[in-house]
Amino acid sequence: METIKKKDIRALTKEQIRAFFVAQGDKAFRGNQVYEWLWQKGAHSFEAMTNLSKETRHQLDTNFVINHIKVDQMQRSSDGTIKNAVQLHDGLIVESVLIPTKTRTTACVSSQVGCSLDCRFCATSRLKRMRNLNPDEIYDQVVAIDNESRLYFDRKLSNIVFMGMGEPLMNYNNVLKAIDKITSPEGLAMSPKRIIVSTSGVPKMIKKMADDEVKFKLAVSLHSAIDEIRTSIMPFNATFPLKDLREALQYWYSKTKSRITYEYVVWDGINDTQNDANALVEFCRFAPSKVNLIEYNPIDDGEFQQASNKAIDMYVTTLERSGITVTVRRSRGKDIDAACGQLANKSN
Ligand code: SAH
Repeated sequence: METIKKKDIRALTKEQIRAFFVAQGDKAFRGNQVYEWLWQKGAHSFEAMTNLSKETRHQLDTNFVINHIKVDQMQRSSDGTIKNAVQLHDGLIVESVLIPTKTRTTACVSSQVGCSLDCRFCATSRLKRMRNLNPDEIYDQVVAIDNESRLYFDRKLSNIVFMGMGEPLMNYNNVLKAIDKITSPEGLAMSPKRIIVSTSGVPKMIKKMADDEVKFKLAVSLHSAIDEIRTSIMPFNATFPLKDLREALQYWYSKTKSRITYEYVVWDGINDTQNDANALVEFCRFAPSKVNLIEYNPIDDGEFQQASNKAIDMYVTTLERSGITVTVRRSRGKDIDAACGQLANKSN
């Protein structure tokens, strides 16, 4: 017997699903119904599509599969943060995090299984990059967190940050498609202004984002504005040096007029001097900027240590004096390894 390789129907556009029905001698309109089941009602089986005839459902079943992520394990932190270990259709696992505050629920989602970059302070970099996530695997993480937000906090998801596993700009097309769906009225209808894509800084892709006139916000994980130091903690900086990053960001700002956020951890003995803070001010002077000083989340080996409060205060004073907005961020979900840089599938 011939076996048909079934396609994942969620990889098709609405037009393609409509075309499938037309090719079968049916009405294009069926495609709209199926699309709505898939994306608005989150159907996990063709069986569930109850306004379609039995024959139509059977026909879909013989041609397609619906690949869905599965929340394999959910952990709750004492501070309310939730971490999902998410199983993909091929058995691989990624993690995503729900971060509640008084007024907001933020989803922190993954864009790749593992990561191809090699930031020495990040747990995810210890995992090999296995593959890119496809658009619906990214979208599903967001839907899962939206559902959890409604269930546990009685409100819908308000913000999304691409700060989970992976480098989103190394999986740019799929991230963009996922965001299209997240912001579309046929998906979650969220405003792109509530979405932040965080990158270690891939200059070519930052320029592409500017050319594509994307409407979401950009955050850059800088951690040092001195090449030698940045390369020692983020070795890919040797390939994408600060000069190129800055030029790309200048291009981004000239096109989008959108403020740039920098993420920055201050480590003891690495980037905690006045000289380091001055270099940061110099680096971000060209555009309205905001610096988030984020707390370091230890990843076991003790090589990196959070700098003293005095060093943090020095950064705050230096930045403020130069008119740069600065916030000091406390980590969430540390007790369940859900904080920045701690995502490494440890619970498995
Ligand atoms: N690859 C993207 C998104 C993932 S990392 C990026 O680099 O931006 C999300 C944020 O967590 C980045 O700012 C990253 O530098 C930071 N981070 C990584 N490891 C960390 C750790 N151990 N403690 C605190 N922040 C960390």
